[in-house]
Amino acid sequence: MLIPGDPQDRWIALTWRLLGGSFGLLAAAAILVVLTGDTHPLGLIVVGLVALVGGAAWLHRRAVLVLDTSRRTEAESFARILQGLSRSVSPAAIVEAMVGDLGRVTAADHCVVVRLEPDSGSLVATLVSMRAGVPSTTSVLPLADLDTAPDADGEPVIERLAAGVEAFFGITNTLAVPLRHERAVIGAIILSRRSLEPWPAATQRVLAGAALEASAALSRVDSARAVEAQASTDALTGLPNRRYFDEFCGLLGRRRRSEDDLEVGVLMVDIDWFKRINDAYGHGVGDEVLRAVGRAIADAVRDGDVPARFGGEEFAVLLRNSSRQVALEVAERVRLAVSQLDLQEWRVPGVSVSVGVAVGDRHDVPINDLLAAADRALYRAKRGGRNQVVAA
Ligand code: GH3
Ligand code: MG
Ligand code: MG
Repeated sequence: MLIPGDPQDRWIALTWRLLGGSFGLLAAAAILVVLTGDTHPLGLIVVGLVALVGGAAWLHRRAVLVLDTSRRTEAESFARILQGLSRSVSPAAIVEAMVGDLGRVTAADHCVVVRLEPDSGSLVATLVSMRAGVPSTTSVLPLADLDTAPDADGEPVIERLAAGVEAFFGITNTLAVPLRHERAVIGAIILSRRSLEPWPAATQRVLAGAALEASAALSRVDSARAVEAQASTDALTGLPNRRYFDEFCGLLGRRRRSEDDLEVGVLMVDIDWFKRINDAYGHGVGDEVLRAVGRAIADAVRDGDVPARFGGEEFAVLLRNSSRQVALEVAERVRLAVSQLDLQEWRVPGVSVSVGVAVGDRHDVPINDLLAAADRALYRAKRGGRNQVVAA
């Protein structure tokens, strides 16, 4: 079907009409030659040629239509893949959109997406079978299959990856394209089918285009995550910053309203006489002490708790599912860990912290109120002589 109004298509239609018209006239002349019984050899040659040209033109027309249909299908497949990718906000969603659409449009029996996960550093492969009812499988491949050096030549890497995937999943006749981040190969899309016919050129084009788009989508998601992580991290200590802490408290506050028994505790931790350290040893050493204290606090709390640099030389820790008893224990552990820090490297004899503790055992106590209570307790710890834990 030609798109009306496209100047190129109008030209094709016009030339076809011209060709058809002139061929009709020629055919009529040929019939006349036969009917008048003119058996001149030249006349017979013309009749033969007219039939030949007519047949050739008809075949050509059919080939053009088939090509047109395949190009249009290719474009539509690609548009569908792009649409799936643009809606995907996570690597998993990108992989899912990719394999589903590719499988449908490329007549593959299996589609495998291999991707180096930046967080875990492992090479994760997801295999989707195009047969209805067969569940997809996700496995971790041996990392030796991927050379992530930016200047690594793409071809051998992709061949090794394809061979690894063939052996791992027991699939054959594969068509593979690399996924790249900047220049480095970070994975591959691999199609496979049981039929041993060569892959159509259209499939190869769709796959190459899809790989480019998927690479761009994966990079976009990764860099968005990196920016997000940077925006929530304190540059000096590497701990979560106050923005992240506040957001987390907000989230937890909303969840606590629906789960009545969720107890939370907060610690406010302030370095004692920190101004003196700055004054005596310089700001650079002050920064190193801040880093060391940050590490000590992070190491002293449990995995689910959230330590953060609250600002200046002040830290806060959000303790989840924490009774008053546990909160006091954690606070004491923090105090002790900081007081035992070895700061000889910077010629600082030692440092201590004061800690204020508050626990909300009723779910309707806002976390902000707990923070204020912990802050008041911290003030009492300072007035009580520093290097101590005080509960609100
Ligand atoms: P207190 O025991 O009462 O808490 O005394 P302090 O000296 O710790 O408290 P004060 O509030 O008087 O001083 C805090 C100091 O922390 C002042 C400020 O220059 C320093 N400070 C805040 N942020 C940083 C930082 O990022 N790096 C360094 N080196 N110092 C910082
Ligand atoms: Mg202080
Ligand atoms: Mg302070």
